[in-house]
Amino acid sequence: MNTNKTSTRKPAVKQSTSRKAFWGLLAVLCLAASQQISAQTTARWKAHDMSRPKPRMVESAAKLPVPAPSDAIVLFDGSDLSKWRSRDGRPSKWVIKEDYMESVKGAGYIFTRDSFGDVQLHVEFATPTNVQGNSQGRGNSGVFLMDFYEVQVLDSYDNPTYADGQASAIYGQHPPLVNASRKPGEWQAYDIIFRRPRFNPGGGLATPARFTVLHNGVLVQDSVEAWGTTTWLQSFGYPKHADRLPLSFQDHGNPVRFRNVWLRELPESPRPGPPVETARPIVSLPEKTLDLYKGTYEQDGAPFFTITRQGNQMYLKLFSLPGSIDLVTHSKEEFSLRWTAAKLVFKLDAKGKPTEASLHIGGEARVSKKVD
Ligand code: MG
Repeated sequence: MNTNKTSTRKPAVKQSTSRKAFWGLLAVLCLAASQQISAQTTARWKAHDMSRPKPRMVESAAKLPVPAPSDAIVLFDGSDLSKWRSRDGRPSKWVIKEDYMESVKGAGYIFTRDSFGDVQLHVEFATPTNVQGNSQGRGNSGVFLMDFYEVQVLDSYDNPTYADGQASAIYGQHPPLVNASRKPGEWQAYDIIFRRPRFNPGGGLATPARFTVLHNGVLVQDSVEAWGTTTWLQSFGYPKHADRLPLSFQDHGNPVRFRNVWLRELPESPRPGPPVETARPIVSLPEKTLDLYKGTYEQDGAPFFTITRQGNQMYLKLFSLPGSIDLVTHSKEEFSLRWTAAKLVFKLDAKGKPTEASLHIGGEARVSKKVD
């Protein structure tokens, strides 16, 4: 019986060990898979989560108003609403008092008559001195870029709400880095650098909208990408829209004031790509000819650079720089430094051998003599 027991136990132990190994291997595989998943996905908060950490308060000493620079389009200087309209195109029912405009409950959003794409926008605002309501119901308005992308305006001075919905949040997406809000009734400013989204001809998104925002001179949004249009409860991604659309301020039922609104239109960002090739032809010289350029060149008696060859590729090595620079041959007298506008111009003797080379860069020419 003992033997039998032993004999029955032994395979049981073996089975247990192999099971452990199996489950161990499975656990390792699952862990590896989950790590791979977490490495591939960026976790993000659900919209409007009250447990999302609240940005800390920062006091700003920025002085307002900030005058418009010379190339700005002044959209509102306190005098009239001639550059503004309601959504249906009729004059807005927002009111002007002193040097500011104020939203009127039920009047709807106020839109610029003109349309804009990439902009630097300056806008000053004040939430009501008479504090009423809480959370999203207190001093709520918004600066909408292109009618789709909101930088939240809210009384966020001692007014808890969800972090992605407080003042200077990209609404429902990105809370500000810090809370630079001033007291109710005090004038505040947003400086918004906005890059509109780009769409492919088929309508798909090529590049998302991007925001950099300063609140009272304090950085609160650092080149963040919008996940899509900013909406309450819903998510629409990026429906294709025009390249230029009006700017608007929100009527959220609270009398919020705006003044000193100006913007600068920004040129399109250059797209990364190969440098523009100026009309210099590229020639192929025989290796025997290229060897004539090899050697050391001196400037004022001190070694300046060497030229070497690998196959038919020539390299420039400056003594003052690590690494070598590819040379492009345009003629026997002229090589350029690849990717740059800098060039080497050679003086050749009767046999076509370089005696001197001038390195042209930044409007200067540094002459050097070939010494070997
Ligand atoms: Mg709002």
